[in-house]
Amino acid sequence: MRCRNSGEHARKTIVRCEPDVKISSVADCLFCQIASGLIPAAKVMESNRALAFRDINPQAPTHVLVITREHYPDLAAVARAGDGLLDELAGLAHQVAEAEGIDEPGYRVVFNTGPQAGQTVGHVHAHVLGGRALGWPPG
Ligand code: 5GP
Ligand code: ZN
Repeated sequence: MRCRNSGEHARKTIVRCEPDVKISSVADCLFCQIASGLIPAAKVMESNRALAFRDINPQAPTHVLVITREHYPDLAAVARAGDGLLDELAGLAHQVAEAEGIDEPGYRVVFNTGPQAGQTVGHVHAHVLGGRALGWPPG
């Protein structure tokens, strides 16, 4: 088994995988289960390899998560894959912002990466946030 559960943070189990192993789905990964339809989510938009749905605990009037359909543990893994998937994630994030009407006056896209940044789900996801003024620096 190449993936293992490696910790608890905010009651979510983080699944970590070997960096260069590409796998399509992890059985106990929450976002793999959303991607496959096993767990319901409020879908906003989708593309060939990515899916956007509303965050269950929104931190702004618009708070949408953009995930890969296949399992990559974090932004670093997607960047390493280097096959245009990161472009697709960023493109879908921007399309979500346009569809939600937050592209003007502006929105934020965040990839929490690793425990110190507050990543609680070990499947890459971009947060698309907007609809209110967003403070800087983030907490
Ligand atoms: P992270 O903390 O890893 O950057 O972001 C994980 C996000 O997933 C959180 O904002 C959290 O609210 C959201 N989340 C956790 N569980 C669920 C769920 O079951 N459904 C949806 N739609 N979002 C979830
Ligand atoms: Zn996953």
